Amino acid sequence: MPTGTTAISSEELKSITEVFEGLITSLKPKLKGSDEKDIRKAYELSLDAHKFQRRKSGEAYIFHPLEVARICHEEIGLGPTAVICAILHDVVEDTPINLEEIYELFGPKVTKIVDGLTKLDGLYNVDNKNAENLKKVLSTLVEDVRVVLIKMADRIHNLRTINAMPKHKKLRIAAETMYIYAPLAHRLGLYKVKVEFEDICMRITDSDKYKEISNKIKASEEDRQRYISKFIGPLQQKIDKEGIKYRIIGRPKAISSIFNKIKTKNVEFEEIYDLFAVRIIVDVPLALEKSVCWQVYSIITDYYKPIPERLKDWITTPKGNGYESLHTTVIGPSGRFVEVQIRSERMDDIAERGFAAHWKYKGVKSDDNVYDKWLGNIRTLLENQNGDAIDFLNDFKTNLFKEEVYVFTPNGDMKILPKGATALDFAFDIHSDVGAQAVSFKINNKLVPMGYVLQNGDQIKVNTSKNQSPKEDWLKLVITGKARSKIRSSLNEHKKLSAELGKEALIRKLKNLKIDFETNTDLIASEYGFRNRPDLYIAIENETIKLQDLTKRFEIINGELVKLKVEETADTKESVKPRPTKSKSKSEIIINGQIDESFDYSLSTCCNPVMGDEIFAFLTTNSGMKIHRFNCSNASNLFTNYGYRILKAEWAKTASRNFEVELKITGIDTGPGVIQMLTNEISNHLGVNIKAFSISGEEGIFEGNIKIIVKDKGQLNTVISRIKRIESISTIERTIV
Ligand code: MN
Repeated sequence: MPTGTTAISSEELKSITEVFEGLITSLKPKLKGSDEKDIRKAYELSLDAHKFQRRKSGEAYIFHPLEVARICHEEIGLGPTAVICAILHDVVEDTPINLEEIYELFGPKVTKIVDGLTKLDGLYNVDNKNAENLKKVLSTLVEDVRVVLIKMADRIHNLRTINAMPKHKKLRIAAETMYIYAPLAHRLGLYKVKVEFEDICMRITDSDKYKEISNKIKASEEDRQRYISKFIGPLQQKIDKEGIKYRIIGRPKAISSIFNKIKTKNVEFEEIYDLFAVRIIVDVPLALEKSVCWQVYSIITDYYKPIPERLKDWITTPKGNGYESLHTTVIGPSGRFVEVQIRSERMDDIAERGFAAHWKYKGVKSDDNVYDKWLGNIRTLLENQNGDAIDFLNDFKTNLFKEEVYVFTPNGDMKILPKGATALDFAFDIHSDVGAQAVSFKINNKLVPMGYVLQNGDQIKVNTSKNQSPKEDWLKLVITGKARSKIRSSLNEHKKLSAELGKEALIRKLKNLKIDFETNTDLIASEYGFRNRPDLYIAIENETIKLQDLTKRFEIINGELVKLKVEETADTKESVKPRPTKSKSKSEIIINGQIDESFDYSLSTCCNPVMGDEIFAFLTTNSGMKIHRFNCSNASNLFTNYGYRILKAEWAKTASRNFEVELKITGIDTGPGVIQMLTNEISNHLGVNIKAFSISGEEGIFEGNIKIIVKDKGQLNTVISRIKRIESISTIERTIV
């Protein structure tokens, strides 16, 4: 949000003009007709509208939209219309200019996109449920994919300049970026953007680990370069001989992706064999791409032995997000595994900048257009969804962000489904009737259950029956939004029908008893414990309630029902009043900037915060406030789905108590001495109390969990760094469940 009232100085105007003219120069090859005139018009308008505004860094605000425009053009490959919209993207939101004025000056296309961008800004608003917001985002997105691409550029610039933000905001933006923007970037094929998102976010949420890995990468740089030249030397000679135009790059992978590997594979930095990838990019015409890539592949595998399972052919079948490349892993010099990526310049551009620049690329059929396909999927999801925003968000995430699985119909037609999809999902993908009437499945000619998880290459035959209809537990067997929403709506339909039948039965019964339907039904419903009439009707139809028993519960007086036994019923309404607090001597946590003794809070046991940790408070529905660490594995879920329940929390300076922390330690088993060594270091040298200690080991390696009691993060850090120094210790981490 722009702040300040200081107008732009003439000095500043000079450098703003320079930046803008630089943008025009680099855009020149893309400009046609009135493009340049329109861009200048947008610039003049935006410059004037933002003239009193400044960014957190103090910089004149206009630099931001100009930079977003540059990113759209240079890093994502968008054209003049997107540049105009990027320049105007904050004008409607933050200045007196309104959409009508934009419409008059720039016409309908620009207006629609700017409107979409303005609505998207609601994502920052923590008072709104983010899932609801995402729905809004997607409705605008299907209008024009540029809305979301420009939003990506906006987010990139905001992250690149995030250092000017207060810590708390940084953390919130990082959580949101990891939850929505990074997967969206991945799905749109914006790999470079995705990696940058993840790296910047990791620098914010896990700065120690980030520094550690980046230092290790730097330290191993020389070794790596030597190895890479040794690896590519003989290949270069051979490819040169073939007269292929190409370039080779070998560079380390992103810090965040190395970190993910360390975490998911549970290995040390030193044990990661594919710290870098070698990429060979050939410069050939479209028609020759495929054959030349395979030619290069054959040259490589002539020299180095390939590992067949690791061959990935994204050239014959591009990924759903448009990614094309041929990947192989070979055994290089001194037995090291090396991943090699082979692709053309065109494929490389798509991989790096996404599909945007090639959207209208000659030779791309419209059903091969990944954005069109993807938008089609989103449209289906939006049209079919019935109501619940969180359900929708989950459907969205599983359906549109996931990797794919490729399967075949009995005729050999290929279908692409999200990874994890089941046989039943497949049936619904073929047609909603096939799904609804599915009774049995054969995969590669063998019968499988409905919930069978599809594997690449499976050929599936679905047997249907007219008597079949979706059942409640089918919802547990599918993951695709299409299947889920079809099942839900069919169940609802079924419920509606039972409700109608149940209602008719009730009307008949009451008529026989000469009781008025309208004035008595609610009483019956509440007597049987139903909140609304339809639930009562359904229960009648299912015969969970027997109408003939009605007179056992009620007597009829003057055509009205009266309860036979009047029982005292407890108030069943859930109490939403804040619970009285147990008296706490002194609050150790400041919530939303104030110490309030009436806050009932506790430290969450999933991440065990310690005084000094970055924390936030989460308002639970029934157990007061929970204090979490920002790098708790639950944080991003809480922030995104329940942002409105998050409160800012800090440690009070006066806090004085002890905290329990669990540490996981691994190392080389040097015999019975390990436990003694550790306890000696922790309790004797450092004077820290150990509350629990368990250790197990096999084949010379041990794993231990130690619960210790510390005063604050400082003391904890001392413990960690002292234990690290013990020779036989390999790793030590705080546990987060
Ligand atoms: Mn912006």
